[in-house]
Amino acid sequence: METNDQKKNISTLHQLTRDSKFKFRCHKEISCFTKCCSGIKIVLTPYDILRMKKRLNMTSGDFLLKYTFPETLEPSGLPVATLKMQEDENKSCPFVTSGGCTIYSDRPATCRYYPIGFAMIKEENADKKEEFFFFVKEDHCRGFEEDKEWTVQSWRDDQEPDLYDRMNKDWTEILMKKQTMGPVEIPDKSLQLFFMVSYDLDQFRRFVFESSFLEKYEIPETFIEKMRNNDEELQRFGLRWLKSTLFGEKFFQEKRS
Ligand code: SF4
Ligand code: SF4
Repeated sequence: METNDQKKNISTLHQLTRDSKFKFRCHKEISCFTKCCSGIKIVLTPYDILRMKKRLNMTSGDFLLKYTFPETLEPSGLPVATLKMQEDENKSCPFVTSGGCTIYSDRPATCRYYPIGFAMIKEENADKKEEFFFFVKEDHCRGFEEDKEWTVQSWRDDQEPDLYDRMNKDWTEILMKKQTMGPVEIPDKSLQLFFMVSYDLDQFRRFVFESSFLEKYEIPETFIEKMRNNDEELQRFGLRWLKSTLFGEKFFQEKRS
């Protein structure tokens, strides 16, 4: 995801569409197998954490403590969780083994994108955002020497980043909006709220159901029940609410006192 400010860099990329073709194959017999799972920085998205904490049968709080590291994402200035690499010589991902990724079907969005990056740009004063794709080629990656042909879309269908993009849509919009706003100071309370709603879903559940939160908004009962029992619904709600709270957008009607 990129903003107008980064357009200069983007213009130098070879831009791809969903129909663009390329050759690539990643498999266990390839000489570089798992080389891409060390010495990297992975910024986690809200849906990444939801999937991984479920996979590992952990609370979001425990997952954050054990597997993540807090950082500030520039230029947005917002706090994000990055995957904590191991202390070994290669700084390996905690989930990589010689047999591959141990959480493969729940791996983060970043691992699903490679080798096709995705960017979104928005012209100043324009309503519409423009999306495009580009190659991310690591020197050690031999996958481009293989013969299997894909289009960008067939690759994405195979790796399923679209589901992650849909689930993270409001979060991505918050990052983009904050980036385009420039260096506006955000109060600490809002930064903490952003981090909790983005990453600590179990704490956000307590915030919603064990405080006066639900007394403040006109939220249909059926919707409340859905959120109570379903992490995905709660996360979707949380991110929409977060966006409306941070940027003064209309979401659910506030109750009159
Ligand atoms: S470096 Fe490339 S080909 Fe090798 S394992 Fe990683 S993604 Fe697959
Ligand atoms: S989560 Fe899996 S695919 Fe991603 S870096 Fe770690 S081991 Fe590799």
